[in-house]
Amino acid sequence: MKIDPNVSFHKKRIYLLLFISCLFIPSFQSFAQQKVSTDGIVKDPAWSKPYKPFRIAGNLYYVGTYDLACYLIKTKKGLILINTGLKETVSTIVSNVESLGFEFSNVKILLTSQARFDHVGGMDIIKKFTGARLMVDSADAQVMADGGKSDYLYGGAVSLFDPVQPDKLLHDKDVIKLGKMRITVLHTPGPTMGACSYLFDVKAKKHRYKVLIANMPVVPPEVNFANTKKYPDIIKDFGYSYKEMRQLKFDLWFAAHASQFGLHEKREEGNSYNPDAFADKPGYDKLLNDLQDEYIKKLNML
Ligand SMILES: [Zn+2]
Repeated sequence: MKIDPNVSFHKKRIYLLLFISCLFIPSFQSFAQQKVSTDGIVKDPAWSKPYKPFRIAGNLYYVGTYDLACYLIKTKKGLILINTGLKETVSTIVSNVESLGFEFSNVKILLTSQARFDHVGGMDIIKKFTGARLMVDSADAQVMADGGKSDYLYGGAVSLFDPVQPDKLLHDKDVIKLGKMRITVLHTPGPTMGACSYLFDVKAKKHRYKVLIANMPVVPPEVNFANTKKYPDIIKDFGYSYKEMRQLKFDLWFAAHASQFGLHEKREEGNSYNPDAFADKPGYDKLLNDLQDEYIKKLNML
């Protein structure tokens, strides 16, 4: 289905909702159950469970589901969306954004933490709907363009998510600009080759916060360091990310999964505005240490 970018916003919204509802009726039913497997992929019900969107700090908002974190940045020149979650929950993300008072069609830039279906499953449909520019770390560009077929870990004959062509390739320390917003890209590979983190300032009433949207380098249990044919630099890349990420300076931190940065321990759904709830450097350091310990354990098994 082709969506004409010139149709009015309300028409576009109806098109999008119709498009989504036609595609996903069976999936919505299955998500009501316990962990389900679709095409061999196990999906956690927390990934599709709705969560009330909220303002994190200044012009930064949480618009994801209970566990799949999506972030919205508001600028005078439009919106930036980081991560889409699953394809099945695009309608949830759209209504989250709109319930905060924003027009979803005003998303101008699309970013992601990593090119895996749980973070970019809705990228293709959202890009078609909004006409936004998709910017992807150059090392994840191929996986995005073939929908995960070339993913070193899960890749195979079929795409795992809708393939989507990036409009711009990102590299370490690139700066993304929209309005007055400046976002520094940090190449932090693991688990995908082009996983990346984002560092930027937000201005709240009394404070200016340095925010890190971290991609946490989790070594998937399926990874075998004795066989790295499909990703020869995997050991070096993960090691690089642990070292670089440990040196980062920030005030508030977040991740691609709510469970990774403890959203539900730090905040109850519906709580009032409180940026400082996310000032937790010790939690970040501990997670990074735990992940590195797992990595070292795997290395020691070689
Ligand atoms: Zn994930």
